[in-house]
Parts: sequence; structure tokens; C-alpha cells
Amino acid sequence: MKQLMLYLIVLALSVAQAQTAEPVALRGYSADSARTEREWEAKFRALPDPGALRGYMQRLSARPHHVGSAYDRENAEWILSQFKEWGLDARIETYDVLFPTPKERALELIEPTRFTARLQEPTVAGDPTSAQHTEQLPSYNAYSIDGDVTAPLVYVNYGVPDDYAALDRLGISVKGAIVIARYGGSWRGIKPKVAAEHGAIGCLIYSDPRDDGYYQGETFPSGPFRPADGVQRGSVMDMPIYPGDPLTPGVGATKDAKRLPLSEAITLTRIPVLPISYGDAQPLLAALKGPVAPESWRGALPITYHVGPGPAKVHLRAMFNWDTKTIYNVIARIPGDTYEDQWIIRGNHHDAWVNGAQDPVSGTSALLEEARGLAALARQGWKPKRTIILCVWDGEEEGLLGSTEWAEDHAEELRRKAAVYINSDSNGRGYLEVEGSHTLEKFINGVARDVEDPETKLPVWKRLQLRRTANPAASAAADRQETRQRADLRIGALGSGSDYTVFLDHLGVASLNLGYGGEDGGGIYHSVYDDFYWYTHFSDSDFVYGRALAQTAGTAVMRLAGAELLPYDFDDFTDTIRQYVAEVSRLAREKREQIIERNRQIDEGLFAATEDPREKTVPPPKEAVPPFLNFAPLENGLAALERATALYDQALARATENGGAALARAALRDANARLIAVERALTLDDGLPNRPWFKHQIYAPGLYTGYGVKTLPAVRESIEQKQWQLADEEIARVGKVLENAGEAIQAAASLIR
Ligand SMILES: [Zn+2]
Repeated sequence: MKQLMLYLIVLALSVAQAQTAEPVALRGYSADSARTEREWEAKFRALPDPGALRGYMQRLSARPHHVGSAYDRENAEWILSQFKEWGLDARIETYDVLFPTPKERALELIEPTRFTARLQEPTVAGDPTSAQHTEQLPSYNAYSIDGDVTAPLVYVNYGVPDDYAALDRLGISVKGAIVIARYGGSWRGIKPKVAAEHGAIGCLIYSDPRDDGYYQGETFPSGPFRPADGVQRGSVMDMPIYPGDPLTPGVGATKDAKRLPLSEAITLTRIPVLPISYGDAQPLLAALKGPVAPESWRGALPITYHVGPGPAKVHLRAMFNWDTKTIYNVIARIPGDTYEDQWIIRGNHHDAWVNGAQDPVSGTSALLEEARGLAALARQGWKPKRTIILCVWDGEEEGLLGSTEWAEDHAEELRRKAAVYINSDSNGRGYLEVEGSHTLEKFINGVARDVEDPETKLPVWKRLQLRRTANPAASAAADRQETRQRADLRIGALGSGSDYTVFLDHLGVASLNLGYGGEDGGGIYHSVYDDFYWYTHFSDSDFVYGRALAQTAGTAVMRLAGAELLPYDFDDFTDTIRQYVAEVSRLAREKREQIIERNRQIDEGLFAATEDPREKTVPPPKEAVPPFLNFAPLENGLAALERATALYDQALARATENGGAALARAALRDANARLIAVERALTLDDGLPNRPWFKHQIYAPGLYTGYGVKTLPAVRESIEQKQWQLADEEIARVGKVLENAGEAIQAAASLIR
């Protein structure tokens, strides 16, 4: 009892101390400039206003505003006028891109019974914008090719490569068939790609109620989840090859850019694709026979899920207008007064599939509030050291068009000047979500400690830490221990799916993606019901998480723009690379062991003996045993990184002594330039195997996951695809990249001594 008392007193004292203590030093700042910076940041965080956020959303989501629509352009012009009214130097930059829209869509079941799909999202009473039918884009998948096909139907679950392996075991081929896949399990563009690789001639993608409909909760308008006729639109461009305008890979789609003929645009699908609601999917799935679908394939429709093929036979027709449309990026610039040629770039898109209150306007609104706040500070005398570029992108939904074309157009300048890109997109209620370059992990942890969660009043960092402690992944105890003890919360790596892609993957600019979420589920993604009514009833209805996003991203931008020395950190980065190297070596070992074990099972006759003789199944084929791979080049690269990081930390510690006077020296200009070059050193000009546009060697969207990230992608994917010789070569190449990064870090260290 006495001990407990003492413990409580000590605890109370340490809490009191923590509350009065000076805030933690800011990395990259001398003591004096940190104090000034913190004062400006506090002023900034008081500015974002939920009422203003609500007003922006009401205005921007009032009408459908997809690429090529009147309201898309009106929104861009309105954003420009706001920026100018606030006193920002801003303009619109346009590009001309290929943007197909539907001309004809038809889907019917013709055997064994007849059913014609509605392909229409009806007006919902009480939701005014759901009735704007003349302005809405019909439900479709952009960059599907034209097609008119009739064939037996096969259900392929999520339509990822593993699902086709399972079909092989059932003795079912999709050659000449139309497949029906459910949304989820991969990015949607992967489904028609893998289906075509297996010989399918058409692809339907539907939203199963298990994934975002009535199985999850009440459906719209009683609740936030997808109603029976709700359809997820979306792009099916082969973005893991390259995003952006399919006709201008690698260059900006300016008026006079050289364009590929349509027939050479390799990022279009090879087979026609159409997305449908579960209302339209149920009669098709109910008409399938053949084997009962494996348990994990079954959704929540009130039917027995069969795989097929047939007797269901469907006719699919999808024809498009292959038009060129103009896109409107709004770009504002706040010039830096010390390092004008070092840019901190902040972006969010403004275009939507339909009204897009959640995607993207919840994020766009936050960016506008940041712009208004920064403009207000500038009028009060605040001056960033670095130039801040605010970008409101068009054409994100179709294939990251606005950001990709802009960054390709300005690539040469961006390679020299871009220090960091900070992205956001949809925003909601809940926890801070961060993914990005691990050179910025420590930095964004610092920002997250200074932003208050609107619901619990805890720092958003603390709330996230407690959530991860409560809800860790598989190896629970070890994870909890790490979450409690590690100075920084780990951030996820970036795959693709929003506008950071060109900055990180193509140009090698350290990037972050920020947002809040995790508390408000929903099933209106890319449907007509993603609108003001839905958002103000079922998401961040009082816009306090919109304010938190503006505070978080705005603080990050200010802190990066104001630092004497760019606050990249290489400890967390090296720690992360160490994990990735361990993962790929384990992956190679496990692949090898699996193949040996399965070959042995085949020799033993295990499959023939244990599978139900009345069910038709096919044993897996025997495979060549993989060779051992030599991971030494990666280990050597990692060791070089570790040495360089230690040198950098020593140099920084010395420069920070005595209030960090050394940080104000002029020589820092070169040190900063060297620091920017570190992320560039993680790229290779000839890119990843068979996809040269993707140059970053640490992060890439997976060739067969789409949005999902593959870290050390060249190595990891060649192992996954059992290309052993390529894996050996890529290990050597990536090992050299790590050594190059080590040299770049060392060069920066030598300049801040
Ligand atoms: Zn979006």
C-alpha cells in the first residue's frame, strides 16, 4: 500500500513535470528558431474552422464533377478564386488526356433463364443529389476496352492469382469464359488483367454485401453501407505498369505532346469490364452450377455460391467514347525566403467519380483550410524558408492523371528542387493514418505528438499508440512491447492509389500520405451516394476530423518548410530496411521449403489418397526446386547504410550542441541539397523489371496487388514469381542502391560537421 502511494506521488510529479517542461526540440532547428516555429505553428493550428470545411464540401460536392464535366472545371476555377482572394499566387495548369466514357452498356443473362441487369443507381428519397441523373457518369470501369462478348460465366472470388490456382485444383478453366469477381482482395484493375492472362474474354466486378453491404451494417439511407443497387465505379487502367494518361507515358500530356496511337496504349485492359451492384449480380450468381465455391469464397447473398462454368451464360456489351478531355490542376505557390529552390509540395485531388463528398472532397476541404491558414499567417509576417507548392489535382480517379502529367511535365525541375510531397485524399473519423517514406517516419511522429484528437483530446500520436497496443497483429506480445517502447510508431510503406505515386515512385521524392479514419465504415465508395447527405449523416459530420487533417498536414508543411536542416532521419529508415531484407530472405527460404514439401506429397500420392474421389480435383503440378539465393549484396548494402547513418547522427548531434548555432551556417545550403538527394539515390533510371516508369527500388505498387505495396519490389516480386535468376540479379542491383544511399547520407553528414 505504502509502495503504491509512493508510486502515485512519483507518477503525479512526473506528470506535472511533463506538463511544464519545454517541448521536445525540433529536429533540424536551432533552439531559437524552434521557439519561433512553434509559435507560428500554434497560431496556424487555431485557424482551421469546421464551419468553413462544411461550406467547401457543400460547394464542391453540389454537382457531379468528374473529368470533362462542367462542374469539374467550375470547381477548379472556384478553388483558384478562393486562393487568389486569400492572397496566394495561384494558377490553373491544364493537360489533355485520354478519357473514355460509356457509349453503350448492356449485360444480360441469356441461359438458363433470362435477366437484364439494370446498371442504374436509383434516386434515394431524402438525398437530393442522388437525383442528378443527367449529370452523373453511368457506372463503368474506365479504360476497359470496347467489347461485345457472350460466354459461360465463372465465379472467381476476388480474381487474384491464388484464386486461379484454386480453380486449377478444381479442374476449372476460364478460357473463353466471362468471369465474375467480387470487389476486394486486390485493386480492381488487377481482376481483368489476371482474368485475361488466364484466357477469359470478359470480366464483371460486383460489390458483395459481405464486404461493404448489409453484412457489415445498415445500408444507405438507413445506414452508411452499400444498398442493393449501389455500384463501385473506378479505373481499371494497368497502373502498376505506369499511371497517368495512357497515350503519353513518361511525359506531360501538353497540347503538343507526342501521343501513342490508341492501339499502342498498353495500360488499357485486354478484355471488356463492367462493374455491377449486388442487385444485378445475384441472379447471375444464382444461375451458376458446378462445384460449390470454397468456403472463403462465399459472400453474404442468400444463395449457395457455385463456381460454374455455366449453365449461366451471359452477354456483355461495353462500348466507349474515346475522347480527349482537358484536366485542370490548381497550383499555388508561397515562395521561400532562404531556400527558394527547395520545394515542399502538398496535394489532394478535386475531381470525383460523381459528387464525391468523401472521395475526395473531405480531403480537398482540409487542403483549402490549410491554404487559407497559411495565407493568413503570411499576411501576419510569417515567411517559410522553403517554397511551398499547394496542388489541387484533377483526374485522380481515372488514373492519377493530374498529378502524373504535371509531375512528368515538370520532372527536370522537380528532380532538382522537390524535397517532400505530402498527400491526402478521403478523410473520416478516427485515428491518424500515415504511410510514407521511412526517412520521414521520425518527422511525422513528431508532428502527430502536437495535434489533438478531437474526440478524446489526447495527442493523435498517443491515441494511435494505444490503439496499436490494444489491437496488435499476429505476434501480439512482441508487437505490444515494441509499440510501447519504440520512440516512433512505425508507418506503413506506400503502394499506389493516390497522387503521391509519381512523386515517390517515378521521381524519388520522399512522400507521405495522411488522413484520419477507422471509425466510420461505409459502402458508398465511388457511387452516386458518396455525397453531402451521406457524409454529414454518417462520417465526420461536425468536420472536426477535417480540422485535424488540416492541422496535421499544415503543421507538417510548415515544419518542413521552416527547418534550417531538412528533418529526414535515417535510423528509422535503416531499421525498416533491415526488416525488409529479413523478409525477402525468409520469403525465398519458405518458397523453397514449400516446393520441396509439395513435390514430396505428390510423390507420396497424398492428393489422390485424401481428396474425395467423387469430387473432380486435380493434384498440383510438380515444380523444379529453387536454387539458394545469395543475399550477401543486400546485407552489404544494409551494413553500408548502418555505417552512414551512425556518421550522420554524430554529425547532427554535434551541430545541435549549444542551442544548434551551427545549424544557422550558410554551408547548410549544400547539406540540404545533399539530403534531398538521398531519396533520389534510392531510384534507378531503368526502373523495375518490365516497368521502367517505376524507378524507386524500396517501394512500388505490386504488379499483382495494384494498390498494395511491395517493398524491395524487384527482389520480392521475382521471388514470388519464381524467377530465380532475375532474383539473384535484382538482389545485386538493390544492394548497390543501398550502398549509393549510404554514400549520399555520408556526403550530407560531411557537410554539417
Ligand atoms: Zn480519391
